[in-house]
Amino acid sequence: MPRLVGCAALEYMIGANSAFMLYYGMTHGAAKLVEAFGTEDQKKRYMKKMFAGEWGGTMLLTEPEAGSDVGALTASAVKNPDGTYSIKGSKIFISAGEHDLCENIIHPVLARIEGAPAGTRGISLFLVPKYHVKDDGSLGEFNHVVCTGLEHKMGIHGNATASLSLGEKGDCIGTLLGEENKGMPEMFRMMNEARAFVGMQGFAVASAPICMPWNTPGPGSREDISWPEKMPRPKM
Ligand SMILES: Cc1cc2nc3c(=O)[nH]c(=O)nc-3n(C[C@H](O)[C@H](O)[C@H](O)COP(=O)(O)OP(=O)(O)OC[C@H]3O[C@@H](n4cnc5c(N)ncnc54)[C@H](O)[C@@H]3O)c2cc1C
Repeated sequence: MPRLVGCAALEYMIGANSAFMLYYGMTHGAAKLVEAFGTEDQKKRYMKKMFAGEWGGTMLLTEPEAGSDVGALTASAVKNPDGTYSIKGSKIFISAGEHDLCENIIHPVLARIEGAPAGTRGISLFLVPKYHVKDDGSLGEFNHVVCTGLEHKMGIHGNATASLSLGEKGDCIGTLLGEENKGMPEMFRMMNEARAFVGMQGFAVASAPICMPWNTPGPGSREDISWPEKMPRPKM
């Protein structure tokens, strides 16, 4: 769908339920990351089901000691002989981080490969599915992405903002997305989309009080032909 038409549709859906639409927003952003930086195998394995909304997506940056200062993160990635990585660490505040609305969740995760430089220069991006995906596209074993709690927030209770533990009680396997140590600039592709999405959220929530009476039959609705006269007009 063209972006412009998509935004018009999003205005209605986010206006109706911004918390629920975060599940869509996170999934779309994560799928765009796979589209931009994924290998042919990663695209084939994950992308279509994410764009179709069959699987969810997230972004895993924040840790208890690494919020604004992402470069301080301690999640680690150790390369395995088959080219995959064993991921270990704790992430917090993860929007749409754990739920059973769909059968799998694909997590883009920031972690540091053993021996990589300190700070943001040494961060890489990995794709970590909640359940392994077999070559034929079917689901395999649990990948040890464990939800350790849900954040208590003042709002957006309709979205599960989760704390996640990776690889604490069993092997959590990820594949490198993009290039080693280029995780930050790559992740910014999704974060920039997330920023635009936040703007869209503000606009949609603000226009909801106008859209609702417009679409609800009765006085003030689009069927009420005297409606334009009832509109408050700015004084010139
Ligand atoms: C509802 C919600 C959903 C979220 N979803 C996700 C998600 O999906 N994935 C994810 O990875 N993270 C997510 N986050 C986490 C978010 O990215 C972090 O909250 C953010 O990065 C800030 O980190 P922090 O909360 O640790 O605050 P801190 O970094 O501790 O900052 C606290 C305060 O100190 C200020 N501050 C920090 N550093 C400096 C400095 N050097 N100089 C001056 N002032 C400074 C900040 O501006 C802020 O006011 C989410 C957060 C919320 C609230």
